[in-house]
Amino acid sequence: MWVNCWGNPIIRVDLTSGRIEKESIEEKLLKKFLLGRGIGDWLFFNNVDPRKSDALSPDNVLIFSSGILTGTNFPGAVRNSIVSLNVLTGGYGESSCGGYFSSKLKQAGYDGLIIQGKSPKPVFLWINDDSIRIKDASKLTGRTTFEASDIIKKEINDGSASICTIGPAGEKLVRYALINCDNRYVGRCGMGAIMGSKNLKAIAIQGTKTVKVFNIRKLKKIAVRIRRLLINDPIMQTKIKYGMGKENETYNELNLLPVKNFQEVGFDRISEIGYDELKKYYKNIIYCPNCPINCDRLVQINEGEPYGGTSVSSMEAGPAYNMSHFLIDDMPTIIKAFELLNGYGLDMHSWSNCMQWAIECFERGIINRKDTDNLDLRWRDGPLLLESIRRIAFREGEFGNLLAEGVAKASKKIGRGSEKYAMQMKGMEIDDELRVDKGMSFGILTESRGPGHTLGAYFGGFDKSMTAEKAKILYGTENAAKAEVYDDKADLVVLTERYAAIQDCLGICWFASYRSAPQLIDKYNMGTYAELIGETTGWNVSEEELIEIAERILTVERSINLLAGLERKDEYPPDRFFKPIPKGPRKGMALKREALDTLFKRHSILHNWDPETGIPYRKTLEDMGLTQIMDKLESAGKY
Ligand code: SF4
Repeated sequence: MWVNCWGNPIIRVDLTSGRIEKESIEEKLLKKFLLGRGIGDWLFFNNVDPRKSDALSPDNVLIFSSGILTGTNFPGAVRNSIVSLNVLTGGYGESSCGGYFSSKLKQAGYDGLIIQGKSPKPVFLWINDDSIRIKDASKLTGRTTFEASDIIKKEINDGSASICTIGPAGEKLVRYALINCDNRYVGRCGMGAIMGSKNLKAIAIQGTKTVKVFNIRKLKKIAVRIRRLLINDPIMQTKIKYGMGKENETYNELNLLPVKNFQEVGFDRISEIGYDELKKYYKNIIYCPNCPINCDRLVQINEGEPYGGTSVSSMEAGPAYNMSHFLIDDMPTIIKAFELLNGYGLDMHSWSNCMQWAIECFERGIINRKDTDNLDLRWRDGPLLLESIRRIAFREGEFGNLLAEGVAKASKKIGRGSEKYAMQMKGMEIDDELRVDKGMSFGILTESRGPGHTLGAYFGGFDKSMTAEKAKILYGTENAAKAEVYDDKADLVVLTERYAAIQDCLGICWFASYRSAPQLIDKYNMGTYAELIGETTGWNVSEEELIEIAERILTVERSINLLAGLERKDEYPPDRFFKPIPKGPRKGMALKREALDTLFKRHSILHNWDPETGIPYRKTLEDMGLTQIMDKLESAGKY
């Protein structure tokens, strides 16, 4: 059985009524937004009014959107875009993961899935090619993501089905609950809490059809070319050889490893939790379909050792990075924390940020044992951190309940000046050091979903192979190689935002592309994407047209945030990032407000938005065919 690469039905599941429908998307809309993140954004805009809806209310929708290339053999084409209201910011939310879900969705015959309403009791959705059923999930309540996934596979009698599931944190509506998709994690924006708010414990999917493309011979040729390019690239070779396990040490070397709630930068015991230590626990490589990088590793602690029997995958740089913030220097504690976070279903970045805020406030005497349910909070306390994960996931006690709300709401509730130590923007927890690499930071500040580094952050400033000469050739400016320089960084971020937008519509993983290896841009770029769309769909689209599509996508996301009440002022980070780094090789570095003012203006000019406010001009929206957005912005008083 065959299925098209795009133009397949979208499934709409109304969990309130139990109604399941299939809808088609007109071709002209596909050509305006493509698939993946692009069409996901547009479907979201047409289904939810951010002015009226709360992320956790039944009228919010959760959209799973497959990329144009997912389900084919193209390297790294596995990404699943999930679009909804962001539980933490109230504005645009998007998160994605690798694995099998996106490919299976396409292979089952669908481009996407819209979940709306709220089921009266816990359920899971079982999509098995043409059969779509809502099934009782009462017995899964309180189960970890790992347990739920195993139980569902047994119940549907299909060990190779792809499973997206939430843990107790999602059920308890922790605002940064994640979705576990085949042990890859859709972490940011609280998508797990949205599933929980709909009483949807899991989605299981099996697809057995073959994806039909326009010119399989030519698509294979491009796939071979890109596969060769990736496996011969030095940055990718590090990932192939070590997984992502070396990256935390690299961040530390580059002075990108903040500790103690961004009070300092750099961890002097990094070697104790570096790659050499991590590899002692490596058991297997975990594969994504057709990806030559295979960056994921399963780690396991042997019985008899501390935390023996612990086992978790996707053990890349993130866990060690996040535990370094607390000065944790033993690998078993890091592995155990990561297993608990993923099993209970909490985003490690937001959890770590919330706990760092709490510890700093405790140290400063702003909060005390009365606020923490008798816990003493301090740095370098592994058992405390493990305990906090359970309390937050289950909203145990006042302290667990407080931190389950996220750092913005928690600090507001506590007051007493604690807001000053909440390292958040737009309501979402900051994960990255912002004072050092200006291209990376500026992309994080302008990211539509809140402070994240996947939609626009430019990473060339710290690429060791990017000399000034090479930067000039590849990007037209030597500043593309200079992390500390502000000049040209708005242009580089806009370039990255456009590439990321189209790449997310194709479903290509950013670890296997230009976005994590900026020196590949002359060989793997917008021209390649145009070529890929042509050979996959038969639509002969140009690079210029793809830039227009990217701009449309970014403008829709901007408008969703504006409708949700987010403004230019919300794009500036907390004061701490304007104060000098107190020690280390980058001592004295800080963000400069005036330099950011200039970058924000340039960023808006490049997008055809008002440079003073960041609001898209009416003419921009008209030219993009987005008059519905213009009307909504008008009625929201934005003009
Ligand atoms: S780079 Fe890693 S996450 Fe991305 S597709 Fe390949 S294996 Fe999966």
